Amino acid sequence: MFDIVQIPAFKDNYIWLLRKGRQAVVVDPGDAQPVLDVLARDELRLTDILVTHHHADHQGGVGRLLAQHRAEVHGPSNEPIAGRTRPLVGGETLQLASLGAAFQVLAVPGHTLGHVAYYGAGCLFCGDTLFGGGCGRVFEGTAEQMFASLTRLAALPDETAVYCAHEYTEANLRFALAVEPGNDRLRKRVEEVALARAKSCSTVPSTIGLEKESNPFLRCHAPAVIAAARRHASGATYGPAVFAALREWKNGF
Ligand code: ZN
Ligand code: FE
Repeated sequence: MFDIVQIPAFKDNYIWLLRKGRQAVVVDPGDAQPVLDVLARDELRLTDILVTHHHADHQGGVGRLLAQHRAEVHGPSNEPIAGRTRPLVGGETLQLASLGAAFQVLAVPGHTLGHVAYYGAGCLFCGDTLFGGGCGRVFEGTAEQMFASLTRLAALPDETAVYCAHEYTEANLRFALAVEPGNDRLRKRVEEVALARAKSCSTVPSTIGLEKESNPFLRCHAPAVIAAARRHASGATYGPAVFAALREWKNGF
């Protein structure tokens, strides 16, 4: 197994660095300097860069990393990804020899059309698709696509560790509580997250099991969530429509 290092970037991004021995893989390096600092400090060689989607806060550092490290760049085939050497469409298995691990590439369109997630060794790197207590905005795809992508992630084992790309959990849970005030697990999570944030601790990774219990966007089948969604859109009676209503509501929350 490899170690995972959390590298905070910008205001609330997380870059994830996976390391085994002296070799490293980085996920969504929006900025190069904090990654270069870790690589230099620990004398690591960067072998692979995994990019989930084309937004600058996820790939803006790739160029500078490649100037100093000869790494493969994996990313969606239908998006402009700097320095990409390995185009992905979803459905592939990535063998990362430097980590001695394999990752499944999952196509999760919605936030962007080519968005991919990487799942392996019990870990999910999901970019801006699934967040702690929430999900990404639907910028390029449809609500139906995003709902299907989230449903796919929700089908992963409960113990899967969810490494998303932003520290958004606290604000997301304020919305979750407005949707489902009677959810006891959610209320407990709100307390846990408030404690963590008061100590400037991260709330990421979470787990698929916890998200299924407390993230409204993975609970579009729950009667209380459907009832809340219907107060905002009367047609929100089935999964994708419930999701669309929640996403709309959250956009203005
Ligand atoms: Zn994004
Ligand atoms: Fe982002």
